[in-house]
This record gives sequence, structure tokens and C-alpha cells, in this order.
Amino acid sequence: MECIICEKQVNNADKSVVHKPRPQGLISLLSYAEKRQDKAGKRILQQKDGILSGNVKVKFHYNCRKSYTSLQNIVYSGRRKVNFPEVINQRLLVKSFRLILELCASFAIKVEQRKNKI
Ligand SMILES: [Zn+2]
Repeated sequence: MECIICEKQVNNADKSVVHKPRPQGLISLLSYAEKRQDKAGKRILQQKDGILSGNVKVKFHYNCRKSYTSLQNIVYSGRRKVNFPEVINQRLLVKSFRLILELCASFAIKVEQRKNKI
């Protein structure tokens, strides 16, 4: 058995290894693999169905997962093609929220003005 990220052999007693990753952990690993599209990412994605169904057993070092799923490492790995949909979405959310607030505010002012005219 080898670490799915660094491909080094791991043994069953190795305490630095996640032997039974939780589904949530696997899904997050897959999503980072998709973002990165690097060598390890492609290897992981090739086995995606097997991993999700539990047919493919996955093990990885805690440290490998930590560095693999760190956004900072993606930024500093020098890849420019990586996008961060969730970051962008958050910004959009804040923007549209502000817009809604502004719209509400200007609407309230208009209503107020109309009331005053009557
Ligand atoms: Zn590893």
C-alpha cells in the first residue's frame, strides 16, 4: 500500500498515516485534486469512482494531506491556472449582498419621498 499523494510505501503500523480516511476527507482530497490537476491529482481523479464507492482503499500521510489541501501551497506552487471558486463566490456574495442593501435603502428613500408628497 502506498500514500496516494506522495506514492511512498506505507505500512499498517505507521502512525503518520491516515489509514481509514473519512468520506468527508476523501471528498475534500478529490476536490483539491480537481483544483490542482497535478500528477498526484490526476492519479487520484483516475480512481475517483473507486475511492467514492469504497472499492479503492486510500491511505495518505497526515503531512501529505495537510500540504496537499493547503490553499497557500497551491498559490505558491507557481501555477496560475488554479482558480478558487469558493473564494470568488464569497466575494460575489458580499458584493451582491451590498447591492441588495443599497437597493433596499434607495427603495426605502423613494417610498419615504412619496409619502412626504402625499
Ligand atoms: Zn505521502
